[in-house]
Amino acid sequence: MLSSGVSRELTWIVATLWGLLFFCWLTGWWIEGFIAYLLIYMGRQLWSMRKFEKWIEGGTTSAFPPASGFWSELTYLVSRKQRALEKHADLQLYKSEQFKSASMLIPDAIVSLDHENHIEWFNASSRKILELRSQDVGRKIEGLIRQPEFIHYLKESQYQNVLRIHSLQGVQRTFSVKIIPYFDSHKLLIVKDITDLYNLAQIRRDFIANASHELRTPLTVLKGYLEAMIDTPGPHHDMWLPALQNMENQSDRMQAIIEDLLTLSKMESQTITSKANKVDVPRMLANLKTEAQQFSQGKHQFVFEVDESLTIQGYAEPLKSVFMNLVTNAVRYTPDGGIIKVRWYEDTEGVHFEVEDNGIGISKEHIPRLTERFYRVDTARSRVTGGTGLGLAIVKHVLERHGATLHVDSLIGRGSTFRCDFPTAMPPAQSD
Ligand code: ADP
Repeated sequence: MLSSGVSRELTWIVATLWGLLFFCWLTGWWIEGFIAYLLIYMGRQLWSMRKFEKWIEGGTTSAFPPASGFWSELTYLVSRKQRALEKHADLQLYKSEQFKSASMLIPDAIVSLDHENHIEWFNASSRKILELRSQDVGRKIEGLIRQPEFIHYLKESQYQNVLRIHSLQGVQRTFSVKIIPYFDSHKLLIVKDITDLYNLAQIRRDFIANASHELRTPLTVLKGYLEAMIDTPGPHHDMWLPALQNMENQSDRMQAIIEDLLTLSKMESQTITSKANKVDVPRMLANLKTEAQQFSQGKHQFVFEVDESLTIQGYAEPLKSVFMNLVTNAVRYTPDGGIIKVRWYEDTEGVHFEVEDNGIGISKEHIPRLTERFYRVDTARSRVTGGTGLGLAIVKHVLERHGATLHVDSLIGRGSTFRCDFPTAMPPAQSD
């Protein structure tokens, strides 16, 4: 089917040709008539073309040129398309303005950076928190925020971690800094003032640490007396012995809980100023094997598969407590005669420490909550085996310090696998 512009043009040609034939028939000037007709037709097309060109050059928002036939239809179609595009662009502009105005109201500083860390745009809070000014657009962010931890975080590209700093641009408050990469190597820098939250958490941590510390001494005294009473024979000694032994067991448990609470609060509030060191994990695991065998009292079979050349950057003591916690858990939750496999290896995804047992297993709904403080699947069993309910919480904290994560796979009655996934490169030490 012909478009309306083309059919209008054809109608014009047919109508004028009839006129031409009549004129030639009347005058007998056939050749002259046809030549004149062609010249007029070409002139008309050139004139319309010129009008159309001028209209396009002048912007399609101006009035339509007085064209006819095919050209008038073309003019109409172009202007309709242009109007639709303009409407779409207006909508996009409106949406982007709406996003910008909303982000202006956010109390966190938000800065958009290009692939070379030049500032492209920032919101109102960035003026207050980061002291940015309009003339900073286009400048490199490293030149404006010179905090060494920030520069390190920006350059290291370990953006899955959040950086916590205690002063920024001379202001002594606590900030969390997060970089989110987006579109074509661009970055969104988000800086949040978390002073109030941090102080509250600090009060809680201090309370737990102080309470645990205060309980330590009276408990040691009680334990001392209990031991003395157990060891000193006297009247009714045999009658009181089971009760005294029970009291001693319970005070041992309390002491273990206090020690774990102190370890945990130390992990949470400790200032890690020391740099991560090279940790000789294979040597550590050789010692751990002996300790694990002693802990199991020969009731379990251990298989160690260790990459002897694999070391990582980290903090030795906390790492040892992670490995020990996972291995002793495997012993405590695996019936006698069970097999416990410990692996230390590297693959394309990073470095891994893995403990696999064929013990009681854990049902799926408990797995996400295992690292919560005092969360136990079976409280009675945990107590009987000397658990505090804090082991995996400690594991989680230490792994976070190493930029690592804990992965748990388990099937009831079949066993569990606890795997620590370390990144190959060590993240920067946090300065909290
Ligand atoms: P606990 O001192 O009670 O063992 P943890 O924090 O170490 O505390 O572990 C939390 C809970 O996770 C335990 O109470 C236990 O129910 C479960 N759990 C940990 N390791 C294992 C394992 N290897 N097999 C089965 N259950 C486990």
